Amino acid sequence: MGSLKIRPFERITMTATTDLLGSVLSPWARNIAPSPTLAVDAKAKALKAAGKDVCGFGAGEPDFDTPDFIKEACIEALRAGQTKYVPASGVPALRKAIADEHNARGFFNVTAENVVVSPGGKYSCYLTILALVGPGDEVIIPAPFWVSYTEMVKLAGGTPVLIETHDDTDFKITPAQLKAAITPKTKLLILNSPSNPTGSVYDASSLRGIVDTAMAAKLTVMSDEIYEHLLYDGVTHTSPATFSPEIAKHVVTVSGFAKTFSMTGWRLGTVVAPLEIARAIGDLQSQTTSNATTFAQYGALAALQKKEDAAAAIEHMRTSFDRRRKMLWEGLNAIPGITCRRPGGAFYVFPNIASFGLSSTEFSARLLEEELVAVVPGVAFGADAYVRLSYAVDDGTIAKGLERLARFCAKLAHHAKK
Ligand code: PLP
Repeated sequence: MGSLKIRPFERITMTATTDLLGSVLSPWARNIAPSPTLAVDAKAKALKAAGKDVCGFGAGEPDFDTPDFIKEACIEALRAGQTKYVPASGVPALRKAIADEHNARGFFNVTAENVVVSPGGKYSCYLTILALVGPGDEVIIPAPFWVSYTEMVKLAGGTPVLIETHDDTDFKITPAQLKAAITPKTKLLILNSPSNPTGSVYDASSLRGIVDTAMAAKLTVMSDEIYEHLLYDGVTHTSPATFSPEIAKHVVTVSGFAKTFSMTGWRLGTVVAPLEIARAIGDLQSQTTSNATTFAQYGALAALQKKEDAAAAIEHMRTSFDRRRKMLWEGLNAIPGITCRRPGGAFYVFPNIASFGLSSTEFSARLLEEELVAVVPGVAFGADAYVRLSYAVDDGTIAKGLERLARFCAKLAHHAKK
């Protein structure tokens, strides 16, 4: 069992350091870390553009194109003049379709009023946090975590409190760990299953234990379910909001179209929340971005309405991800010094590289420099013993990347022995 470790988030410093004194920037701008995943992807793309043969495992983005039937619906909407502002919380027909889709999956009486369509799952998370968290509030985030949660909590003036987990417990927290992390200041618990970066998926009964603990402490749960359709090995997905109508009153469910339908560039996220919270999120959105792009929302509407086309498109992508997952997972475990848990969802593996004695930043930087393989250092997700590889890449890249990684690790092991 992993030992219970709770620590405050170290990078929080709201006072200006000496070199920042006199900066024109606000404490918010000074205190935010840029997205490390986007930075790795940008570096790999820049090397590729310079003619280097880079194997890029950094991007959290499906390598498929958006299905044609979704694109066609968007083009049709553009031609029909859907180029104006719409209500801030989304096109009414899309909000209704999202509500119906959630009810079909066991949610309780979701109406269009409970739904907000935002410019991306990332913005859905941010507005949810802004709607619920204020200065002095603590937000519990299991680590490893998706890189943006901590920064968003800081932007809201809150304090991220991490619960550390490791591969020996499949990166999952227990109710006891949660209970120990709760203080009178705790406001929100963030859950992300299937997880980025680990690919771990909570089973229904473990999730229920955690959610019950959160409810007993009167917390709100933000459940980020953006990878809900990308599941393997017969693993199933459970939404906390389906446990009971009473629990649903305290759960905000975040998702989006980016990962399921390969629509990352469309920027469309969703929120399903109790009425008061959904309205607050809609108000925050109305004062910051107005609505998500109008014609893009019609593409999303087709994704929900044309159920057979959607199911076929998802299955096609899921099957490819599953094949690549096995290939990468097997290949990683065959490399001496690396151990990797088999992920049940999303499109990431999170191998343990601690045996090489390097920080994840050093490991990743040298791997890119010496073997042109781009991975994201685990420290970005609050877990320095690991690196993240996305298998949303073609089979050839996986085969070549594994060969290079094996050579790199052999070299490290050889030098360590000397
Ligand atoms: N939540 C998680 C866990 C993610 O991994 C991502 C994207 O990487 C998002 C939310 C945001 O997705 P998007 O803003 O592209 O819809």
